[in-house]
Amino acid sequence: MSLAINFDDIQLAAQRIKGVANRTPVLTSRTANGQAGAELFFKCENYQRMGAFKFRGAYNALAQFTPEQRKAGVCAFSSGNHAQGIALSAQLLGIPAAIVMPLDSPAIKLAATRGYGAEVITYDRYKDDREALAKQLSQERGMTLIPPYDHAHVMAGQGTAALELLEEVGQLDTLLVCLGGGGLISGCAVAAKHLNPKIRVIGVEPVAGNDAQQSKRAGKIIKINTPKTIADGAQTQFVGQLTFPVIQELVDDIVTVSDAQLIEAMRFAAGRMKMVIEPTGGLAMAAAMQGAVDVKGQRVGVIISGGNVDIAQLAKYLA
Ligand SMILES: *Cc1c(COP(=O)(O)O)cnc(C)c1O
Repeated sequence: MSLAINFDDIQLAAQRIKGVANRTPVLTSRTANGQAGAELFFKCENYQRMGAFKFRGAYNALAQFTPEQRKAGVCAFSSGNHAQGIALSAQLLGIPAAIVMPLDSPAIKLAATRGYGAEVITYDRYKDDREALAKQLSQERGMTLIPPYDHAHVMAGQGTAALELLEEVGQLDTLLVCLGGGGLISGCAVAAKHLNPKIRVIGVEPVAGNDAQQSKRAGKIIKINTPKTIADGAQTQFVGQLTFPVIQELVDDIVTVSDAQLIEAMRFAAGRMKMVIEPTGGLAMAAAMQGAVDVKGQRVGVIISGGNVDIAQLAKYLA
């Protein structure tokens, strides 16, 4: 079976987001290199618009809407960064957006999504089926539903992060990418393996939610209960129908890190690199610097996926 996306899709996505998405910086730290015994290149998507890589995939998807789709609008369900990515992209493209979010979402996230001009429809996370709700809404209003990861245009958009990184730093031995549903890593793996078939692409998951690791080993998608971890961007219960074949074919291995290791990564980012990252954003960094994967003597790409963390909460983590 052929994969949902190829390298051309990522190059086309790169053209669509050009001048709209931030070309995020690649940062280095001698202290980090010393600790890892490797040369680390951090691709900092915490400096992306709306604070995470999700803007790339959302914008790439919405930019391909037909005039009819644009008029009827977009619908998404998300408690996190995908909601904001869709809301901002829709605003920039003049597309109406309706976002289905949990009633008890953090007030700042509800406010941020509304701030981008989206209509927020809340649901009770203990009673309602958000996916069914979003489907019903999109049918009633003729809106196009864009899922957070299992969509070819979303996957291709996310892959532009690795494309930019490799364009900037050249050959790498290993690329470390966090994963929840696998949209980011599938796009990045297609880009990286096309540019350098020998590169090792390693996924990083929270230890409490290692469904992708289990799935890869079992050769089929394994579903787990919502994991308890501070990495809220990776609290998915299963990888996608479209992302899994890419993970099977192009991702070399999947490793895990603990919440304590994520806090250590956030501490390093803040203390040494003067940078705010969210817990999920620290997955690949923690794996590179705290021994989850052998990178000794290598040139290593590390994708920092986002920086949306409540500052008071971050202070509590670091206290
Ligand atoms: C969505 C998200 C992830 C997980 O991405 P997938 O494409 O679902 O694997 C990781 N980090 C952050 C900050 C996110 O917002």
